[in-house]
Order: sequence, then structure tokens, then C-alpha cells
Amino acid sequence: MAKVKYYYDSETLSYKKIEKNIKKQIIRVLLVMIASILSMILGFFIIGNFFDSPKQKQLQRELDFVKINEQLHNKKIQQLENILKEVEERDNNIYRLFFEVNPIPEERRNSGLGGVNRYKDLHGYDNSEIVLEVTKNIDLLSKRLYIQSKSLDEILKLAENKEKLLSAIPAIQPVKKEDLTRMASGYGMRQDPFNKAWKMHWGMDFTAPRGTPVFASGDGVVKRADNKASGYGKHIRIDHGFGYISLYAHLNKYNVRKGQRVKRGDLIGFVGSTGRSTAPHLHYEIHKNKKKLNPLNFYYGNLSPEEFAALQKAAEVKGQSYD
Ligand SMILES: [Zn+2]
Repeated sequence: MAKVKYYYDSETLSYKKIEKNIKKQIIRVLLVMIASILSMILGFFIIGNFFDSPKQKQLQRELDFVKINEQLHNKKIQQLENILKEVEERDNNIYRLFFEVNPIPEERRNSGLGGVNRYKDLHGYDNSEIVLEVTKNIDLLSKRLYIQSKSLDEILKLAENKEKLLSAIPAIQPVKKEDLTRMASGYGMRQDPFNKAWKMHWGMDFTAPRGTPVFASGDGVVKRADNKASGYGKHIRIDHGFGYISLYAHLNKYNVRKGQRVKRGDLIGFVGSTGRSTAPHLHYEIHKNKKKLNPLNFYYGNLSPEEFAALQKAAEVKGQSYD
């Protein structure tokens, strides 16, 4: 027989029977179940947040590893950037300056790469910022290296050209100083030995005995070796390239033919007095882009400063020329 439960009703001051209500009991059971489920979920939530699972620990270790390496890589990129910066500065301030080309502006060397969407695939991840930074730095470094290598290509070409120019340009006295009896006349207004009229003397006269060796003053190709130009007699013209031509007149004999390639210092002929000349001497001219220049400015190859000063003094004497 089921127990009958009573409760004391303080209003009526009497005991009353407790009615059993199945519905209420079901609700109570359900509430207990819901509460336990909720506390279980809460439990998992707390455990999940404050205590990592082995899988999570593993992932965290890997992430830490990647982050540490990323820092190391950034440091290395920074070191490479510093080295490259030194090379760039040397390139601008020494190499390019020496070869007389403009330095590459800082903005051109360091400008980023074009295209706004270049890195769009890298966005949208937790570590996007880290990956973006490294990628951008490497891209910029690659671009700077490319510009630097192009600059060095240019410098190399200029250096090769400069070397050619330096060996081509007329730069030595065409008659040995020991062979000279005197330097008769320089570039400028001189008195004509035949009619005594003052006229422009377009070269320099080196007085030396007939048969004295004459040397090419720079590398080049013999363009003429004949006596068909009026007044010059037997003469040689050497084309040095870069607009330069040297001319050797009144020769006694040739030692080269037209079309022959010569080097600076090669024996090309011998002093004479052919053509419009009063005595054995070498008349020497230098042309640049068809203009006749003062040869005095082209002897830095084989004269000491004292010898040059003496030559300059003699060349300035406004006397009579030999041709
Ligand atoms: Zn002359």
C-alpha cells in the first residue's frame, strides 16, 4: 500500500493530504536530465579551453616551430638587405660615378612590385600577416638584386668600352723624345715658311733626322698611307674609332699599308720631308669628329710633367712652321 503524505496548512491550521501529480514528476525528471546534460557540456567546455588535448598540443608545438623559424628568416632577410644595400651604395657612388653614368635613384631600387592583388591568396588566415611580411620582403629583395645585376651588366659594358677608348685615343708623342732635334712649331697661328704669310697651323711639327721612326699614337686602323693629299706628301691617317683620327705627314717611308690594324707604339713610318716641307720633320695632327684639335693635349701617355711643360713652352713659340 502506497504511503500517504500530509502537510500542515498554516492557514486552515490542519493537516492536508499531498496529492500525487504524475505530470509534475515527469517535468522534474526532465529538468534534472537537462541540468546534467548542461553541466556535462559546461564541463567539456571548461576542459577544452583550459586543458589541451594531445592533438592540440602537437599543433601548438608545430605553430611555435613555424613562428620561431619565421623570426629567424626575417633576421636573415634583414642581413641580406644590409649586404645588398652596401653593394648598391658602392654601385652608385663608385662604379657608376667612375664610368660617368647617373646613379640609380633610391626610389627605383626600393619601389615595390606592381599589382594590388599580388598577395590576395595570402589573406584570410590567422597567420596571414607573418606570411605576407616574409613574402613581400623576399620579393623586394629579388627585385633589388635584379636591378643591381642589370647595373653591373651596364658597368661591365662601359668598362670594356672605356678600356677600348683608353687604348684607342691618341696618347703618346709619335716621335721618341730622344730622337727630337727640337720641337719646331705648335698648333696655332704660324708664319708660312714659303710665303711668310701668317696662317693657322693645324698640328705640331717634330724636328728629327730623316729616317727617324714614327709611332702610332693609339690603337686603330690605317685609313690612308699615300701621297695623294695636297701638301702632306707621304702621309698616314689612322682611324682610332670614337671619332678620333691621327695624321702623320711628310714621311720618308711607310711601314704600314692601308687597312692594316695597328697598336699604340707600333712603328708606322719614318720621318722625311715629302710634300710641302722645308726640312725633315713630322707634321702631326689629331682630329675629333672632323675637327682639328691641339695635339699638345694628347701626350699624357709617355711624357713626365717636366717634359710636358718643356714641350708646351716650345709649342707656344710663335715662330715659323716647317710646312
Ligand atoms: Zn706642321
